[in-house]
Amino acid sequence: MQLYNRRSVSERISIYEVASIDRLRAELKFEPRRLRGLRTAYFKKSLGTEAALAELPADVREQFARRVEFHALSIAESHDSQLDGATKLVLRTRAGYSIETVIMRTGTGRVALCVSSQVGCAAACGFCATGQMGVAKSLSAPEVLDQIVLAGERMQAEGRSVRNIVFMGMGEPFHNEAAVYDAVAALLSPELFHHPPGRILVSTVGIPDAMVRCARRFPTVNLALSLHSVRQDVRERLIPLAAKYRLDELRAAVAKVNDIQQNTVMIEYLMLAGVNDSAEDAREFAAWLHGLDAHVNLIPYNPIATAPQLRTTERPERDAFAAILREAGFVTTIRYSLGADIAAACGQLVQNENRAVARLQAAVPL
Ligand code: SAH
Repeated sequence: MQLYNRRSVSERISIYEVASIDRLRAELKFEPRRLRGLRTAYFKKSLGTEAALAELPADVREQFARRVEFHALSIAESHDSQLDGATKLVLRTRAGYSIETVIMRTGTGRVALCVSSQVGCAAACGFCATGQMGVAKSLSAPEVLDQIVLAGERMQAEGRSVRNIVFMGMGEPFHNEAAVYDAVAALLSPELFHHPPGRILVSTVGIPDAMVRCARRFPTVNLALSLHSVRQDVRERLIPLAAKYRLDELRAAVAKVNDIQQNTVMIEYLMLAGVNDSAEDAREFAAWLHGLDAHVNLIPYNPIATAPQLRTTERPERDAFAAILREAGFVTTIRYSLGADIAAACGQLVQNENRAVARLQAAVPL
């Protein structure tokens, strides 16, 4: 798997490049089982670089460490929520950009990890802080994966492990398809993470062709669609990209994904008071879903500074909305966001300092 042109980034071989690392092993002349031991320690047990290197014969450790790049990111900050089991990691790329990864320890003791696929987001949804950052810079596959490694090491130190991985952090995964697919392939690879596909979820703003491509390539990985309204005009007001990828195309894409996959597609629906939360909205939503294998995840709106006019739907209206969908036969759950006090909840991920980095480097404008 050629994840990126490593020479342009670093002379070292990325730990994710299976064939190149295999060649390095042959060159350094140590047994394949030692490399397997290193990969198990690093990817599957989240034991960290030192413990992984300890799996190699003593005489090659130093050389291997010098030739191989383990981490693509460094931890810049870590914030623990005082309200719930969330931790936000602010991670720095080599180019100096900051991204955020959220660790969610749920009541059941399970850990879900919310990973970023881009710095910023070109989708520019008005209700989302990341969308307000502006044009995106895509992460490389190692940058996506290192979020999982670094968070995994944290969890291992607590005696926990990451169970679910959701691509719901900063960015639109399908605006960075190649790297996201390489990252998912590495997650599934028996030689690397060997993560169960059913515990990976890719969430999209709604790019129909990419949804179908993703389902074809990874038929057992879960997909989520951020729908938020089944009225074309309302959806366009909330999501600028909705004008390009229309509701009828999205519905056809979900039907196609259903044909390809056994998995039920998750339909995310942000609840905004007076915008998309009436009983009539719920009935139209149920009609839109009719015939699809979908479950609905209602998301209470987390306030962001740039959208003071938006308010979340209150509990009674939300329950009434959910009841209509359930009545129509759709499993409907409510999402409880963690980490509101550390700006780690859905839609609150933003890093202002990236603007300065982008200007300095005259890279993609943010
Ligand atoms: N770009 C992808 C994934 C990132 S956002 C997507 O659009 O799906 C993950 C989810 O959080 C999406 O459903 C998104 O619409 C939702 N979200 C964004 N801002 C939010 C906010 N302020 N409050 C609650 N949910 C929000």
